[in-house]
Parts: sequence; structure tokens; C-alpha cells
Amino acid sequence: MAELTPMMKQYLQIKEQNQDAILFFRLGDFYEMFGDDARKASKELDLTLTTRDKDKNKSFEEKIPMCGIPYHASDAYIARLIAKGYKVAICEQTEDPATAKGLVDRDIIRVVTPGTVIDAACLEEGRSNFCAGLYLDDTCAGFSVCDISTGKTHVTAFQGPDRAEHLLNELGRFSPAEAVVNQAAYDCGPLLSLMQDKLHCHVERLPAGRFQLQEAERTVRTQFGDEAAARLPKGNPAAALSLGALLGYLHETQKTDLRHVDDLDYYQQGQFMELDLTARRNLELTETLRSKEKKGSLLWVLDKTKTPMGGRMLRSWLERPLLSVTAITRRSGAVGQLVDHTMTREELALALSGIGDMERLVGRIVYGTAGGRDVVSLKNAMARLPHVKELLSAFDRGRLGELAQLDPLEDLTDLIGRTLCDDPPFSVREGEFIREGFDPEVDRLRSILHGGKGVIASMEAAEKEKTGIRTLKIGYNKVFGYYIEVSNSFKDQVPDTYIRKQTLVNGERYITQELKDLEHDILSASDRVSALEYELFTRLRQELSGHVARIQATAAAVAEADCLCSLAAVAVKNNYCCPAVDESGVIEIHQGRHPVVEAMRPDALFVPNDTYMGRSEDRVSIITGPNMAGKSTYMRQVALMVLMAQIGSFVPAKAARLGIVDRIFTRIGASDDLSAGQSTFMVEMTEVSDILRTATADSLLILDEIGRGTSTFDGMSIARAVLEYCADPKRLGAKTLFATHYHELTAMEGTLPGVKNYNIAVRTRGEEIVFLRKIVPGGADRSYGIEVAKLAGLPEAVVSRARKILRQLEEESGHPAAAPAPREDQVSFAAVAEGEVIDRLRRAQVDSLTPLEALQLLYELKKKLT
Ligand code: ADP
Repeated sequence: MAELTPMMKQYLQIKEQNQDAILFFRLGDFYEMFGDDARKASKELDLTLTTRDKDKNKSFEEKIPMCGIPYHASDAYIARLIAKGYKVAICEQTEDPATAKGLVDRDIIRVVTPGTVIDAACLEEGRSNFCAGLYLDDTCAGFSVCDISTGKTHVTAFQGPDRAEHLLNELGRFSPAEAVVNQAAYDCGPLLSLMQDKLHCHVERLPAGRFQLQEAERTVRTQFGDEAAARLPKGNPAAALSLGALLGYLHETQKTDLRHVDDLDYYQQGQFMELDLTARRNLELTETLRSKEKKGSLLWVLDKTKTPMGGRMLRSWLERPLLSVTAITRRSGAVGQLVDHTMTREELALALSGIGDMERLVGRIVYGTAGGRDVVSLKNAMARLPHVKELLSAFDRGRLGELAQLDPLEDLTDLIGRTLCDDPPFSVREGEFIREGFDPEVDRLRSILHGGKGVIASMEAAEKEKTGIRTLKIGYNKVFGYYIEVSNSFKDQVPDTYIRKQTLVNGERYITQELKDLEHDILSASDRVSALEYELFTRLRQELSGHVARIQATAAAVAEADCLCSLAAVAVKNNYCCPAVDESGVIEIHQGRHPVVEAMRPDALFVPNDTYMGRSEDRVSIITGPNMAGKSTYMRQVALMVLMAQIGSFVPAKAARLGIVDRIFTRIGASDDLSAGQSTFMVEMTEVSDILRTATADSLLILDEIGRGTSTFDGMSIARAVLEYCADPKRLGAKTLFATHYHELTAMEGTLPGVKNYNIAVRTRGEEIVFLRKIVPGGADRSYGIEVAKLAGLPEAVVSRARKILRQLEEESGHPAAAPAPREDQVSFAAVAEGEVIDRLRRAQVDSLTPLEALQLLYELKKKLT
């Protein structure tokens, strides 16, 4: 093999240390990739793969595949590679190629990984991007996450037999993009499968040496200070171990001190409601089950925040419902104050609208990747703070009163305002962004630069006078720079000091020493001023970095005010009430509604329902009723209201009293585990057993059609046994909403204490079925399966055949015929239709309808009646 060039040796040396990443190797204005990296990247990024030389006889180096991208467009390419799960190591020239002797020094400046991207192109505004650290051993488990775009860091630890289970729940809560884990965590099947298959999280296994307690504690202390480090639990090393390994990984990939990562939140079991991934998904807290979109989720209803940081905070509130009555009422109290003060609330929302993403801007400033426009955006954001503070000052007590104490950062706004002009150019290398009057040297150089034309004009005048050549002109072109042009008729009068450069058809061009000196001054002023401006900008950025903790604290206060305003605005718009939250263990809702269903169809009538569940009486509700009656909507609405109350929100009801619930469990419908090769029934039973094992008397259970996946008798027996277990205070005694098709189970009402039957009322008219959506005490008389099937459009022949078979079956078993003759007292179809028409009319906002919409509405109403 031929000898490698020094540059290629340098490349291979750097690549050797970054085997698992695609190496972006800076060469002039390009990042080049070589070898396997080039093959992968060219495929993923649709780049042309080339070799330096295709000749077979050439050396290895010349045959090596390569591809490249222009450095200024790298962000988008990096984003695409990260989205596909790659890591990208960025290798820069660390000295100026113009002054370097021989080979330019190069080094890795940063490794971008899915959990450590900070570029805005890769990040979703209202969502944190977490990198997690997981530590698991025989006795304990540690979990930590950090979002380096904002510096937010959380850590917790667990002990005992359920420690891995808790890790699963925390992973579901934060849904990190990447996790660094120790061997035992990697070997834990459910953990790995949750991360890789469900959360699509990039998993990085670190060797045991990265989880050493002393080293970990030292890293944590250095990053967050002694006080924060001392808050970590003494008896459980897992917290420090997971956090230490995470920080180590962040330092290693980011190559900076991560100064903005300075606020550590240590939380403990019992501080937040724990929800497993199944419950989070089933309740559609932040995205819908099927399409994974925000629209249609609870977050979509509640999120009217005006800043990205407020959006992220609200999402984190939803992911971490509170358990302390005091903490909850602090929030709901503030929401209540904002509900009552409409003017202030609306003005606040307006003031918050322009603030933007202070948190991530600060992150970029600390990183040194912020440009002039970023810093000016930060200034514009901060300029709104005094007004926000003033508005908040209307509240002198409660949480809002505390938020009113926020630091308005006026000195920093002023500093940026004095240093930078209002509309800086995109690049900080090209100058023209330092404000006039800020630095005398910048001003002097600029006057040469901009005064250049004036200087040239006066030289032209002087030369004309000196030589007496009337037509003498000074011009400029790229080849010669400045020149003096004299027309042919005056050629003879040209002095000796003129040096001829170019002959034209009707004249000659000259230069002089004097002109060249002036040119040098003018041209170098441009370079000098750019360099000076860049230096001043870097100094400003450094100075701002020194205030990062202050800016972050203010950003957090703004985010919180934004969340509270959002909850208040939603409460007013949707007519919610403030729930009384206590430790009574009672759930009592008067005229409750489903927040999402009612918001998705604003012009349809949502029928409100009451709920009562006590600690001993009415602990378990068995809910029967045909498919489509509204059972699952009803059960979810109860769970969602509990959840909303525990994040401090108002709830969709006339009135509500909600006893704190420690966990919500759901067992609803098919699960996405089916793709993992388990049968529906297996999945159902695994979920049920998990619930029964981990629920407590303070939990709320939503169980939809347990036992459906097997034969009737098996299924019914399992359903009954599960119900008995839930209802029995000696076993579980948890509040349970249990929807079932097994009408036989309604017999439990009299025999098991705490169990009560409910059904969702329907009426029949002939063979038609009408859903009334009202929950009423008592069991349903029958399933109406055939009527619902008919409604779904099953062919008439099949429907009537099914009726026949049903009748036969019932005759054989000696039960009464199922389809009773239509009763006179039942609400008629026409009456229901009329009711709906009147309701639609009442809700119609005639003023805002276009003529076409009005016609459409009329048409629909008429169709309903006929
Ligand atoms: P089930 O679980 O009994 O099969 P669902 O809860 O899925 O029924 O509800 C069926 C449909 O009825 C849903 O489309 C839902 O939007 C609507 N619905 C349910 N409850 C109500 C209600 N209280 N008011 C208005 N519409 C409702």
C-alpha cells in the first residue's frame, strides 16, 4: 500500500477514536466523509459518492470512497442523520489554514447524538429533548434525564423489588431520545424493549468503569454545586451513579463545561403521580393513540401557551401530576385568580406572545453557537419582561405574587441594546452588527470604509487639478482594484508617476503608489472591522453566559406564568369549574364532560354525567350498555378530570370534589404489543396482572371489558375474579370503573360491598336504537349487539339472520326473547331528532356563518327531521 498523506493519517487517527459516529471532517468550506461513513451518509442523504481517483492502480487513499457537504448547510444534514439514529462527530480545523505551517490542526469539537442535539432544526418547540442515564443493580435503580438545550435536569432513585418497573414508568414519563445505561439495565428485557421498540430511544451501553460512585459524586458536585449534590439520597447510590454517568457522557460528547446545566431537580417516589406507559397512551395525554398527533390529546385542549418554554412546561406538568394538596391548590389558586381577572389575563397573554424561546437561546449563547440574530431575539424577549412583571404585580399573594418577583433583566437588555444594532445580518463574521457609538475603533474603521467613496472622489478632483486632465476618472474593478482612467486625447498630459496597467479602445488606465496605498487602507478596513466586531460580539456572548442562571430563573418564571394563563384561558373558554381537591378519597363530579371529545366536536351536544365514587361505598362501578353507548368515554372522562385536577387545572364539570389519586391504571382495548408477537389475550392478562400487583387503595382503575379475549365462561370467570379482587378492601379496595358485556356480573351488586351497577341509557324504537349518553343506576337489560351492528351498516340479510339465530339460542336456553316489543313510553326517534335540531339551532352562531354554510346547516337540519 502506498504511503498515506499526512492529512489522511490525521483523519484515520481521529476516526479511530470515533468509531461509532459518522465523522464530518472539515476541509476548507466542506465537511468530507470517507470510507464506510461516506457510504452510509451518501445513502441516507442522497449524496454522490466519489473517489479521489478511480484508477485501479492508485493507492488505497486515492480509491477511498468519499462524499462531502458544504459546511454552512451542515445543520440540515446533521438533523437528518440524527433523525435516522446516527451520531455525528464534527471535526473542525482548530487553527487558521492561512497561517498554519504544513498540516492544519484538527480536532473533534462536538459529537451530536439524538439526545444532545441543540440545533433548532432538530428540536420540536414545545417538547424537551432528553438524554437519560439509567443504572440498575440487584438492590437499586437510578434514573436521570437532562435536556441540554435548556439545561433542565431531573434525577430520582428507587429500591426494592419494583425498581425496574419504576424505571419503566420514568422512561415513559420523559420519553428520552437517548439513554446511556449500565450492563444490567441493558440486559433487562422489558427496559430495552420499551426504549428501543416503543420509545425509539437510542441506547448507549457504557462500561462498568463509568459507574463509579466516588467519581460520579465528584462529577455531580462539580456540575451542580455541593448543596445540590447533598440533596441526593444518602442511602441509595443509584441516583448519583446514573447522573454521574449521564454527565460524563454529555461532557465527552459536547466538549464544553455545560455551564447552563446548573439546576438539579431531585424528586422522589410519592411526589408525582406515577403512570405507566399504557395509561399515558390510553388516556391520550400528549398524543393520540392511533395517529400519534397532538391534536385530539388532552395537551391539545389545555395548551394555549404563548411561549415554547411555557409549552414545554405544560407538557411536563401533564407528565408529572402532583400528589400534594398544597402544591395542587397553589397552582389551581393561581389559575383561579387569572380566571377572575380577565383583563390582566388577556394582557398577560399578549405580553407573553412575543417572548419566544429564551431558554434555548440562552443554551445557544452558552454553547457559543448563538449568532447576532439570536442575541437580538433574546434582547427583544427580555424587553417585554418589565411589562410582564408589572402585570403580574397586580397579584400580591399566592403563586402569582411570587412570580411577580421575577428579575426583569433590564441591565442585560440594555447591554445588548447598546452593543448590537437592531437588525444584524445572518453571519457574525461579516460585520455590520455592532451599534454605532459602542466602540470608537469600529466607528473609525467604518468611516474609512464607508468614507472610501468620498476619499476617492476627492483624490479624483485633486488629480484633475494637478494634471489639468478634465476627463480623468478614478474607477474600480475586481482585477486591478482602483485605477485612474484617461481618455486618448489627454494621454500626453499623464505625469511620470502614473503606471500604465491597461489599454482600452479610447483610453488608458493607470495606477499610482498613492492610489494603491489608499486602496489598501480601504480594503483592509473591511477585514479589520469584521474581526473587531466579531471579537466584541464574542465578548458580549461571554458576558451573557455569566448571567445564565439569572436568565434561566426568569425564563422559568415566564414559562410558569404562561402555563397558568393557558389553564385559566381554557377554563374560561370551555366553562370549567375549580375542583375541590382533598385527601378524602372521594370522587364526586356533578355534570362532568370529556374535555377532548367535547372540544373535538364543538357543535355537537355533549351529554354531561354525574359520578360518585367513595372510599367504601360505591367504590366499584360496573358499567354495562351496548357498544357505542359511551362507556369508555365516560370512564376516560373521570380519569382525565382526576388528572387535570392534579396538575392544578380546572375541570369540565359544574362542580367537582376530587380526592387525590396516587396512580391511574388503564386496561383498554388492543395494545400495540400485538406487533411484538403476543396474543391479544396474553397482552390483556399481562396488563391486568401488572395492575393488580402495583395498584393501591388510593389508585383509580379503568378496566374496559376484561376477559373479552377468551371464551365466554373463562372470560366471565376471570372478569368476576378481578372485580372481586379490586373491590375487596383486604386485597386492593381501589376505586374501579369496570365496563363489561357480561350482564351476569351485575348480580354482584347485592353480594359484594362497595359494588354498584350503572348503565348508559339507550332507547329502542322498533328495531332502531337511540343512544341517550346518560349514565343511570342499574344494569343494562341486554346488549343490543345486533342493533348496533345494523347501525354500523352490516347487510340487512346478515342482520335478520342474526336475529333469528339469537331467538333460537334464547329459546333453547329458556331465556326470554331478547328483543322486546317497542314500548309506548320510550322516547320516539322523531322526538330525539327534533331535540337535536333545536339544540343545533341554539348553538349555531348565525352571525359568523357564510351564506353557503347557512344553506348547508339548513339542509342538514331538514335531513335530520326527515
Ligand atoms: P362504548 O365504549 O360504550 O362503545 P364510546 O365511549 O366509544 O362507547 O362512545 C361512542 C361514541 O359516542 C363516541 O364517538 C363518543 O364521541 C360519543 N359519546 C360518548 N359519550 C358521549 C356523551 N356523553 N355525549 C355525547 N357523545 C358521546
